[in-house]
Amino acid sequence: MPRMQTPQRVRGTQDIFGDEQRRFAHVLATFERVRRLYCFQRVEVPVFEDTQVFARSIGETTDVVAKEMYTFPDRGGDSLTLRPEFTAGIARAYLTEGWRQFAPLKLATSGPVFRYERPQKGRFRQFHQIDAEVIGAPEPAADVELLAMADQLLHELGVADGVTLQLNTLGDAETRDRWRDALVAHFEAHRGDLSEDSLARLAKNPLRILDSKDPRDRPIAAAAPDIDAYLTVEAGGYFEAVTKGLDAAGVQWTRNARLVRGLDYYRHTAFEFVTDRLGAQGTVLAGGRYDGLIEDLGGPPTPGVGWAAGVERLAMLVGEPKPEHLQVAIVAENHERELDAVLKTGRLRFMGIRTELFITGNPRKRYDRAVRLAPACIVSLQGEEWTEPNVRSLGNDTGLADMVRALFGRATD
Ligand code: ATP
Ligand code: MG
Repeated sequence: MPRMQTPQRVRGTQDIFGDEQRRFAHVLATFERVRRLYCFQRVEVPVFEDTQVFARSIGETTDVVAKEMYTFPDRGGDSLTLRPEFTAGIARAYLTEGWRQFAPLKLATSGPVFRYERPQKGRFRQFHQIDAEVIGAPEPAADVELLAMADQLLHELGVADGVTLQLNTLGDAETRDRWRDALVAHFEAHRGDLSEDSLARLAKNPLRILDSKDPRDRPIAAAAPDIDAYLTVEAGGYFEAVTKGLDAAGVQWTRNARLVRGLDYYRHTAFEFVTDRLGAQGTVLAGGRYDGLIEDLGGPPTPGVGWAAGVERLAMLVGEPKPEHLQVAIVAENHERELDAVLKTGRLRFMGIRTELFITGNPRKRYDRAVRLAPACIVSLQGEEWTEPNVRSLGNDTGLADMVRALFGRATD
């Protein structure tokens, strides 16, 4: 029979191990700590949803919906989609689970998300996001709190240096209608030079052209009119309240009037934390206000604001995390002492002491293997069964060795 070929890892997916995994875990643990500091409730939502959840909220003409979704019919014939982001699923849950009664609701989650993109450094097909949302709060104060939380997270991860918060407003409905007309007029004047994709966007969703990555569109997008001239008094006031709040909270920001996000549901505040340390994949954390989203899903008018960050991109920026030190190594130096080693290890672990057990492999090599892990204390079990062990302190935690000695000393009766 021909030898079977080992199946390969699917393109754009990752097996995260070793130092890389430790950095990844460090990002998640720091996020957990910070979301508690800000009193955001943890929530878990499904990895897949009815395709409509994403198509209706993110926008049919966005890259995510038009090109990047993993959509498939399930065995019952329903069209399902692997989540390309968290916000739409959380908004769906808010409606279907009756979470309105808890509004305003501060929620946080993390996990894998899926986008069919061209894999490259910092860009995967299965990647991971951390995510924070405030649903049911129309006030600029909610935007400010979310941004302060993001800013503190980046500081606590030690990656805030060289990362800037770029802030923009996308206005309210009236602002957008006026701005949209101005954009259409501008793009119509350059019709002949636009990419095919952008020509299609011109009819359906001209704002999207501003976000186009096609080099033919870039100069035309760069020359497009700013939103500022079209801002209503309310929309201008909202943006000013956000910026004043950020200043009060000590969060540094810069205005980027060109910033539009890759998803359609944003209103008013839109932002990205951007670094120049990751090449083309420089956006580490991004989000904004999405006051129209829950209505797009068939719910009542409900304000919302949130952000998501790529765990891999943050993990690429963080330094080497501190290794978790091994406290005790227990070594059975012969077969007769192996059960004794199991028993002693169990006792230490029950006491909350980080302990590794060496009872496999060549007994004469076990001690050296243990030393290589640099435990604070080594318990060597030699000779006769159940005799007192030899306890050696390797670090400066002699108290630990004394405690272990006292614990495993020969019973005297
Ligand atoms: P980009 O412009 O890099 O494609 P985006 O605007 O599509 O980003 P969002 O939809 O706002 O990104 O997702 C939030 C964050 O998730 C991004 O800021 C980034 O850190 C991360 N991210 C997005 N796409 C990927 C990907 N394919 N692989 C890894 N991380 C990603
Ligand atoms: Mg993208």
